[in-house]
Amino acid sequence: METTKFILDERDLPTHWYNVLPDLPEPLPPLVHPGTKEPLPREGPLPPPLFPDAINKQEFSTESYIEIPDEVQQIYKLWRPSPLHRAYGLEKALNTPAKIFYKNESVSPAGSHKLNTAVPQAYYAKKEGFKRLATETGAGQWGSAMALGAMFFGLECKVYMVKVSYNQKPYRRSMIETWGAKVVASPSEDTEIGRRILAEDPDSPGSLGIAISEACEDAFAHDDTKYSIGSVVNHVLLHQTVIGQEIKKQLEMADAYPDVIFGCVGGGSSFGGMILPFIKDKMGGKDLRLVAVEPEACPTMTKGIYTWDFGDVAGFAPIVRMYTLGHSFVPPPVHAGGLRYHGMSPILCHLHKLGLIEARAEHQVATFKAAVTFARSEGIISAPEPAHAIKAAIDEAIRCRESGEAKTILFLLCGHGHFDMAAYDEYLSGRLTDYEYPEEKVKEALASLPEVPTA
Ligand SMILES: *Cc1c(COP(=O)(O)O)cnc(C)c1O
Repeated sequence: METTKFILDERDLPTHWYNVLPDLPEPLPPLVHPGTKEPLPREGPLPPPLFPDAINKQEFSTESYIEIPDEVQQIYKLWRPSPLHRAYGLEKALNTPAKIFYKNESVSPAGSHKLNTAVPQAYYAKKEGFKRLATETGAGQWGSAMALGAMFFGLECKVYMVKVSYNQKPYRRSMIETWGAKVVASPSEDTEIGRRILAEDPDSPGSLGIAISEACEDAFAHDDTKYSIGSVVNHVLLHQTVIGQEIKKQLEMADAYPDVIFGCVGGGSSFGGMILPFIKDKMGGKDLRLVAVEPEACPTMTKGIYTWDFGDVAGFAPIVRMYTLGHSFVPPPVHAGGLRYHGMSPILCHLHKLGLIEARAEHQVATFKAAVTFARSEGIISAPEPAHAIKAAIDEAIRCRESGEAKTILFLLCGHGHFDMAAYDEYLSGRLTDYEYPEEKVKEALASLPEVPTA
């Protein structure tokens, strides 16, 4: 019998997060103050004081390895180390000579990789004496993970959930409430910015940019509250590096090394967490492709431009240099809700600029087709987001069939699709359609970019 699953012992759980910042061949561009438009000191801290101090330090840290607190490791052990699978079923279905591996982050109690950062964010807020966390969520995966993270440490949690998802994903709401957090549809009446947007447009469907503004405002308005974010920023990618570190050990067990790695990108945290531990190999000349896969409906890296933009709609968050579709971007209603953010992790954008990672975009219908092929060969029903990585991995495996190359392909299954069956229904009944974000709209949105003197 061949080994299909590479499982590490609890004792092999990484004890440190890997910080890529000191290893970058060129430093990241500085952040820019949203008010003064002046560059912020590279060593931090982030103004205004949105995050706990420890998180603020991690955002700018120059240490290569940062110890994972014992309490956090203990909670990680509920589902970590997560399995790495050899996808024999998928290989057979595709009749490919390629070896396909996938790392399965869907085994976390929240159903995705997001709990990897929710737990430490709650831990540091609690340790520094705060009582409450405010955050946003798009499709609900981050809101549910943060609700659970807060629960582990006895913190209150308020989640601003993008209104379309709030109405479309009632069971994500129920999860958030089951774990004891509060959730409201964003834009909401609970914040200044929410009331302003509702006054202009009572039917606003909301966006991640608006929900981030509401959560930030909530954190400013309450002394006992800190803000938490589920993707994009450096410390979130840092926390997610447990994924890539485990994969490296598991590939050793499997006596394999990838030729190409695929992961979906919304804000870039799952992809970053997977590939950052491989980046030194890549910089050292290893023949390895690292490919970020995004939706054609929100093509941040493939059609956006690399420039300075706000992270949120109200301009509370610092201005960052990244690929962006413009902070006023209102995403089309595709099912990969977790991939509908106007910007992208500055670390990943920088790596792309340096030529160390690649990006490609996929259409929605093709990603569901790939997810169904995966479900019918490996059994697991993928979330719509990682279905983008599955689509790219399948394409590569088919190319191998045609060329006869036995490449090693790895992708990240960052979440399951158990709350996305309405989307599968649409696909299976032939009602699902594609949406390509028009170039003119990208140009339009880019007209409202902030002017930054350093740019
Ligand atoms: C949130 C989420 C994403 C997108 O976020 P990243 O930070 O790019 O990982 C992708 N897949 C799943 C399952 C998610 O929950």
